[in-house]
Amino acid sequence: MLDNCVTRRGILFVVSGPSGVGKGTIRSALLAKMGDIQVSISVTTRKPRTGEVDGGHYFFVDEKEFERMVAEDEFLEYARVYTNMYGTPKKFVLEKLQEGQDVLLEIDIQGALQVKNKMPEGVFIFILPPNIEELAVRLASRGQDSQESITRRLAACKYEIEQVRHYDYAIINDRLEEAVKKLQAIITAERCRVKNLNLGCDIT
Ligand code: ADP
Ligand code: 5GP
Repeated sequence: MLDNCVTRRGILFVVSGPSGVGKGTIRSALLAKMGDIQVSISVTTRKPRTGEVDGGHYFFVDEKEFERMVAEDEFLEYARVYTNMYGTPKKFVLEKLQEGQDVLLEIDIQGALQVKNKMPEGVFIFILPPNIEELAVRLASRGQDSQESITRRLAACKYEIEQVRHYDYAIINDRLEEAVKKLQAIITAERCRVKNLNLGCDIT
């Protein structure tokens, strides 16, 4: 049987885009439809928002613990995003990929570009807003950030959007269901790429 001969290597999917564009919302909707993808949980020095759970949304640590993790080379990438530090634990990602499982990272653009340097075989996906006015509405509607923080996030978004040229795919998050369908389609297509297959025995 062919399915005994053909296995697949794990694929790293990296999703980023400006704050408030809907990355977290898309990720949750994707996971509800596609269970067979491992989501990396980042470490952050940010304080939890209402409803956020340690080890669920993030691992929440203080600056000292974050610095220890940096010193001990525990991050695949890390960056200061606005006023807080965020990092992707390396061990989890590398172990899952080695096991042939796909991994999804939802990280900022600085982090995504660091990962691209280290693991250029990853698949880099950028989420775009339909327009800047809508991005402002979404940041405000989330109701979790101060006006100062919203202003800072909007000021960064023009430069961030220009970084789309470093990515493999762009998805405009206008209608949520459409955006999620496009992300699913990208994942499905990448899983079918011959370069991602291990052809273990003579399949002819
Ligand atoms: P990010 O993770 O990129 O910072 P969020 O997922 O927190 O963004 O989304 C920011 C806000 O925008 C949330 O209130 C969310 O419900 C809303 N949102 C996300 N996608 C859409 C969409 N396609 N249409 C309208 N609102 C959306
Ligand atoms: P928030 O504080 O709104 O949850 O996230 C702020 C930003 O940090 C978002 O753009 C999010 O994608 C990014 N982020 C979350 N985790 C990581 C991470 O591990 N590394 C990097 N570089 N950015 C992250």
